[in-house]
This record gives sequence, C-alpha cells and structure tokens, in this order.
Amino acid sequence: MGEDQGAGVGGPTAGAILALKEGMKVLVLERSGHIGGRDLSFKMTDMDLKTYRKTLGKSACSWIAKSNPEPEALFTGGYLKGWSFEAGIHVLMITDKGRTNTCLAYLGKPLELFPATSAGWWRDNVLHRFENGSERGGNFPWMDDEARRETGKINSEMVRMDAKTAHSYDHISLKDWMEQRTKNPYTHEFHYVNATMNTTINSPEKISAGDNILMNRAVARSGYRFSYCGCSTLGTPGFVQIPQKHCEVIEENGGKVILNADVKEVLVEEGKVTGVSVNIDGAEEVIKCPIVINSGMVNDMFNYIPDRHYPKEFVDQVKKFWRAGICAVYWGLSKPVVNEHLTFVPKIAGKEDGFDYDVRMGFWDSSGMCKDRAPAGKQLLDAYISMTGEQSHNPRLVQLAYERMTRFMETHYDGFKENVEWAICTVSDSLVPVAQAPFQVGDAKPRAKDPYIEGLYHASDSSECSMAANDAATHAGIIAATRVSGHDYLNEILPEQLRD
Ligand SMILES: Cc1cc2nc3c(=O)[nH]c(=O)nc-3n(C[C@H](O)[C@H](O)[C@H](O)COP(=O)(O)OP(=O)(O)OC[C@H]3O[C@@H](n4cnc5c(N)ncnc54)[C@H](O)[C@@H]3O)c2cc1C
Repeated sequence: MGEDQGAGVGGPTAGAILALKEGMKVLVLERSGHIGGRDLSFKMTDMDLKTYRKTLGKSACSWIAKSNPEPEALFTGGYLKGWSFEAGIHVLMITDKGRTNTCLAYLGKPLELFPATSAGWWRDNVLHRFENGSERGGNFPWMDDEARRETGKINSEMVRMDAKTAHSYDHISLKDWMEQRTKNPYTHEFHYVNATMNTTINSPEKISAGDNILMNRAVARSGYRFSYCGCSTLGTPGFVQIPQKHCEVIEENGGKVILNADVKEVLVEEGKVTGVSVNIDGAEEVIKCPIVINSGMVNDMFNYIPDRHYPKEFVDQVKKFWRAGICAVYWGLSKPVVNEHLTFVPKIAGKEDGFDYDVRMGFWDSSGMCKDRAPAGKQLLDAYISMTGEQSHNPRLVQLAYERMTRFMETHYDGFKENVEWAICTVSDSLVPVAQAPFQVGDAKPRAKDPYIEGLYHASDSSECSMAANDAATHAGIIAATRVSGHDYLNEILPEQLRD
C-alpha cells in the first residue's frame, strides 16, 4: 500500500501509474476541499467570494490583488455568472504531445485540447505575427541578415543538442551561455523573451540555460514551434481535469481520495517510513503504510517531514530555493475585441520601475481558444506577467503590473476599455516553486527516492524532474512511479525528447 500526499499533479500521476499498472493500493490525502492543487479551474456559476478566496489560497497558492468592481460587488453583483477561468493563467506546453497529455493518454484518459492557432509580438506599437521560420528571424522587420542568421544558429544549436549536453548547462545562466555564442542584441532579445515564456522568469541571468534548452528542444522535436503553436488550453472546467483524471484512474483501480485531509507528519522509525499522522475533517488519525509519496512543494516539506531526519546541508539547500511567481489578469468583455491567441509584449516595465529586468507581458483570447469560457457573444481575455516570488509580495509592483497590463490593452485595442464588464487580478508566489534558475535545476532538485528516509518518495514540479509546471510535475510523477516499482516507466511512457 502506498499513500500519496496531495491531489495536485505529481503525486496522483505516480499514484495512477502504480494503481493501474502495479496493482498497488493507493490512498490520496489532500488538505484542500478540492482536487486540483495549483491546477485549479473555476466555473463561476455558483461560486461565492469566501469559497473562491479560500480555495485559491489553499490549493493554488494565489490571492486576489485587485478587481473591478471590488471583489464583493464582483461576486454579489452576478458579473461572473456563466464565465469560467483558471486560478491564474494556464496553458499547456507542447499541446497534445507534451508529457501531461502523453501520460494521460497512456493511462487511457487523454485531454480535450484547444491549440493556439496564432502567435505574435507587439514591438514598437506594431503587432508582428509569427509565421513559419520566426525562430530564424523570419518575418521580423527589425532583424537584418546577420540577426536572422545568429537567431537561427542559436535555435539550431538548442534543438539539435542531446539531453546530456543540455544538462551540462543546467548550472549556468542563459545570459552567460548566449553571450559566449553571439553578441547580436536582437538574437539576445528573441531568445530571452522566449525563455521568459518558458520559465516565467524575466531576467536571463536568473534562467538556467540547460533547462531552457531542454524546453525548446522538446517542443521542436515534438513537431511544434517554440514561438508558435506549441501551446494549448483545455476545455471547461479547465486544467483541474488533469489531476481529476489521475484521481479517477486511482479510484477506478481500487484506490481512494480523501479531501480535507491535512498530513501533519510523515512518521519515520529507524530511518523508515511507517505512516502518516493526518487531520481529516478536524479529527487526528494515524495511517500506517510503508510507502509515502510527498506531492507538496519541497520548499514546504519540513512543515511535515521533520528536518532532524536530514543532513544540515540538504535542509539549507532546500530552504534557499527561490520561487517564480506571476501576476495574472482576467477580463470579461461584452464582445470579442482581441483576435490573437499567444501574444507577447517584450517590455511593459523594467528596472526603472523597481523590477530586476524587462518585464514581458503575455495575453490571449481565452474564449477564442475554448468558447465555453465566456457566455455566448462575450470574450474572456487572459494576461500575465512573470514575477519572482519575492516581487509578488510587493503591492507596489503588483499594482504597477496591473495598471500597465490594463493600459497596454486600452491603448492597443480599439473598443477594449468600453467593453470591459469586469476584471480580476490574482497573484501567486509559486507558479514554479523551485524556479528554473542556475543551481536550482537538474541534479540540484531533491531526488524522487528520498536518500535519507526509506519508503519516502517526492513527486512534484519542485522535486526531481526537468522543465516547468504541469509537464514537470508529470515528469516527477513518472520518475517516482519508476523508483517505487523498479519498472522503467520513463522509457515506456515518454518519447526521447521528453524523457530527461
Ligand atoms: C497561477 C499559476 C499559473 C500556472 N500556470 C501554468 C500554466 O500555464 N501551465 C502549466 O503547465 N502549469 C502552470 N502552473 C503550474 C501547475 O499548476 C503546477 O506545475 C502543477 O499544479 C504542479 O503540480 P504538483 O503536484 O507539483 O503540485 P500542486 O498542484 O501544488 O499539488 C500539491 C497538492 O498537495 C497538497 N498538499 C500540500 N501539502 C499537503 C499536506 N501536508 N497534506 C495534504 N495535502 C497537501 C496541496 O494542497 C496540493 O493540492 C501554474 C501555477 C500557478 C500557481
């Protein structure tokens, strides 16, 4: 029997594989009242403000920063009836061919996906749509022949690189890696903006070259373009379907999911897991089991796995991990005003405003990709900027980000201001709990099989895995299932470009 703590993505991925393929008895203990973790989606039909806030905080590490009208009026005034949106923005990398859908298809539960069918950049107040070849400078009028050649050269190097070589760049910054290869400022800009889209980190000094290369080569080798068409969204109710589908597999194979079950301590005797102490609906209980898969963020692991079981260097290393966060805005418009899917603005704020680097904005016509997200004839728009976890707790920077995103849309899209019915801005400090930064990726992440406690495994986007977000959490789940069972699920489930 195994116990999986947390009904997000990583733990339930491992649990589903082990229940379906190994016949293991799996119990999922989730502290929130909802399945989903940070993959949370809201159908706003009968949601009240108190439940929204609580769920947003407990499952998705997010909070409301601003709204228009004020939150109380937004919920009691019926503005959100018929709308459906995520806890923060959510798009899936590599569409149907990423790790998430590949694994769910393996488990017999593929996703319904809505790919992005347009992409572009706003530069100097003009929208430049991406066409085939944009990774080589394609149709970007600001690039001369040399810039196109250099941009293409870097792209080819990333895509052709084998995974082992990519990992050898894990602990150097993208800035250093790039500057060793080209001085061309347009090539730098192009690849730095793409890297921000991949990692939700603005500064190339803070992005791991290796992890970013792995992401670009995975998209290209899967047959998509990393600046275009490499993303999709999900049908309603949205991304929560991913953890829900894993939990379904667990339950269909004799397992169980218990909500409002807060694991207080992983119990360890003589270096071995013996079970967990858990508070279920207010009652304390001890559940005995020989295997525990920790699916919570490793940053928080010492809240329930006593640090006395670990060497000091390991505890210090985990405590030093920094997080990548986000400031996201949803706008409900009375009619469609924006036609683009994935669209990026290289800079809406910067060092001069108190950020650490140029701040990029991403936005898309969410209901154009998945029409159920808005009532008939209306439009849901998603927008976001990346923030470090620390910046996300700075109200001045959050306010500024919200204002700049709003101002950008008002200035560049006729009819935007007049047609906004409502807006809600949420912030999270934990989009990527262990940011994809040099010294935090690859072998720096805690291993799936805990080397210090027998029977304990870790499976979350913050433990052993590569790349980011859902695809990272799925990777972690498959790695954990492999370590628990001794069967090589990595090779069995994933194609070469997604394995490492
Ligand atoms: C605002 C935001 C936007 C995002 N956008 C994207 C995106 O566009 N694309 C993408 O692919 N990914 C995105 N992500 C990331 C994605 O949601 C995560 O990568 C994914 O959910 C990670 O899964 P996980 O299992 O590692 O962790 P989680 O989803 O956090 O799940 C962990 C679960 O464990 C539970 N838990 C923790 N401690 C305990 C305990 N002691 N007892 C019981 N239960 C416990 C938590 O409540 C939670 O449900 C976004 C995340 C956020 C916050």
